[in-house]
Amino acid sequence: MSDRLVAVGVPVPGLGRLTYRVALGQPLPPKGARVLVPLGGRIVTGCVIDSNAITPDAGTLRDLEEVLDTDAYLPQHIVDLALWVAEYYAAGPGDALAVALPPMSGRGGNTAFRTLKMAELVVAPEGAAKPAGPKGPKQMEALARLASAPEGIAVTALTKSGVSLSTLRSLERLGLVRFREEVVERDPFQGAADGAQSLWTLGGETPGTRDLTPEQALAYRHLEEAVVAGQFKTVLLQGVTGSGKTELYVRLAALVLSRGKRVLVLVPEIALTPAVAGLFRARFGRRVTIQHSGLSDGERHDQWHRIRRGEVDVVVGTRSAVFAPLVGIGLMIVDEEHDGAYKQEESPRYQGRDVAVVRGRMEGAVVVLGSATPSMESAANAAAGRYDRLLLTQRVMNRPLADVRVVDMRPEFATHGADAVISQALWDALESRLSRGEQSLVLLNRRGFATVVFCRSCAATLECPHCSVTLTYHRTARRVRCHYCNYATTVPKACGTCGGEFLEQSGVGTERLEAEIRTRFPGARVVRVDRDTIRRRGAIARVLGDVARGEVDILVGTQMIAKGHDFPSVTLVGVISADVGLGMADFRAAERTFQLLTQVVGRAGRGHMAGEALVQTLYPDHYSVRAAAAQDYDAFFEKETEFRTRMDYPPRVGLINVIVRGKSLGQAMDDATALAGLVRHQGPKARLLGPAPAPLSKIKDEYRVQFFLKGHQRRSMREALLRALDLKPELKRRTTIDVDPNSVL
Ligand code: ADP
Ligand code: ZN
Repeated sequence: MSDRLVAVGVPVPGLGRLTYRVALGQPLPPKGARVLVPLGGRIVTGCVIDSNAITPDAGTLRDLEEVLDTDAYLPQHIVDLALWVAEYYAAGPGDALAVALPPMSGRGGNTAFRTLKMAELVVAPEGAAKPAGPKGPKQMEALARLASAPEGIAVTALTKSGVSLSTLRSLERLGLVRFREEVVERDPFQGAADGAQSLWTLGGETPGTRDLTPEQALAYRHLEEAVVAGQFKTVLLQGVTGSGKTELYVRLAALVLSRGKRVLVLVPEIALTPAVAGLFRARFGRRVTIQHSGLSDGERHDQWHRIRRGEVDVVVGTRSAVFAPLVGIGLMIVDEEHDGAYKQEESPRYQGRDVAVVRGRMEGAVVVLGSATPSMESAANAAAGRYDRLLLTQRVMNRPLADVRVVDMRPEFATHGADAVISQALWDALESRLSRGEQSLVLLNRRGFATVVFCRSCAATLECPHCSVTLTYHRTARRVRCHYCNYATTVPKACGTCGGEFLEQSGVGTERLEAEIRTRFPGARVVRVDRDTIRRRGAIARVLGDVARGEVDILVGTQMIAKGHDFPSVTLVGVISADVGLGMADFRAAERTFQLLTQVVGRAGRGHMAGEALVQTLYPDHYSVRAAAAQDYDAFFEKETEFRTRMDYPPRVGLINVIVRGKSLGQAMDDATALAGLVRHQGPKARLLGPAPAPLSKIKDEYRVQFFLKGHQRRSMREALLRALDLKPELKRRTTIDVDPNSVL
């Protein structure tokens, strides 16, 4: 008899597929089942990725330790999706499976359900003799209470109200009462939804049931046709902020559900899930759930299993929810599809939006990518005819787009000094909003008080000892801090380079912005939202709730406030240093600037009052600033396409960024050079650029040297890289391969 072999993925970084023998007498685990396998001296939990593996050296294989599931634990189509991700993004299958598996899926994971002991009345079958026997008053009382609750009562609740456990036990002996364990589900909607609730119940209308505007109706007819056709198709829904995309999502979801299929909705950030999930809940009730890494392990585990059991029809989640174990998906929605948060910056380095499209293709679903400012990739795919493109150019109810003014900060600096934070025009606009009782939102995409501390004598800046970046001064904490490794220290009394005693700060962050606004308007209710103030779970939902209830006059923050949220009574948006991102040595700098500006400007005037936006910049003529001010996506796309084409950057070509890390710059450079040489030797159909020190040449005490592969055949590039790494296995641990990188810093 020939050996029965299975291929297994284990969640150990960088490991490939492993093959094991299934011993005689052991059940053959199907694809998707969990198994315990020996790995070195340990026993680890893995997931079967092929239940009929073939390998030439079967003689040396070890046996499976134990088969944990006789049915697929992870649905087989999700195993396939994970394997696609592992291959495309050059990660180990275990890495990809680890993202797809729920928490507590290791050995003993079946006990991760929380149970509650219930007592219930035994209902005797019709005609059966009733068990007789003496019953005291306590027993009679217990029976009476249980009779009023056919679904049973928690034992703890009974004992709290005076029914003792011994009474219940005697009734059990008499055959009148039985105990059972009930699984209680940890529900992420409890608590988390408080802040969000006020947002979606404000309007009082059920989402997805409004009369559509003519533009919405046109787009809907197209989407409806795609859903009814029941085939894979990707549609780019490009609609200005406030054009009613979400209304279309909900309506389309209702159609899909009525056809017996399911819906997956991805949003870029945890903070956006309560509001979006709330909308879907308002329409579809308990068959909606959420999945994201901000939930507790218990909640995530329980909701994963609800989805797996088929009790959920709509999942709203962040990036990793693209692996949700839904069966029978008819529609996938990727909201704010341009958002960089869809890219995972650790292995597997997948782009959730693109994985959604792949899943849609695998399962024959319609994929809707929604954005006011589509990514260059999606727009290029639409331009090439690979995606359909639907446009919503107007806001609902004929609300006008905000009136945008670009404020050139050069003359402001000339008159008020280079540390002028807020221009006269913006001060005036803020003041008029305050006097009218309207809300304002001020964006500065940099946290902290001052972004640079430097010596007046020698101009040396305070740098992180572990990273090649300057330290940011945080005034409340009275410390300087590194935003890459979190190193923090008190501000030194003297310059470490020359001993000079005059240390100065420059570069404004949100903390200073908030302080200036508070000083100027002491009576105003000012709230700051950035990673320093929003630490705790649910904090952002609370702030958004306060804003929605009109309890905030001025909201100050980083890009956290720019995204997605609907603030009906904000009539003024101010942008400080619109060009913060433009100085970065990253080919997406202009795209990110344009998107952020357009999104934040779109926050103004979403309600009944018209909006105004003031955008402060030192580069009023940069095309990303101009196009954002004009809210002209096509103008931006045209200019940016020219730039990407000229520089040979994505989406014009496929790009892989390879970073080799080392203890010294010399070592990293030597290793990267050797690796690049081996890659070249493999003859990939690609151009190889570099190696050179990365723009962030040191992070957390590791030096970083990078090289790029550019070409049209990612498979050829990837394979050349992996073969080269096989020739230098000692570099694997220190090498990062980033396929379709989001940032190349
Ligand atoms: P987007 O997702 O494109 O930014 P939303 O779907 O959030 O836009 O819609 C913006 C606002 O307009 C929301 O308050 C929404 O409730 C409302 N809205 C959407 N569609 C309609 C419609 N057809 N009629 C009236 N109000 C609508
Ligand atoms: Zn650091």
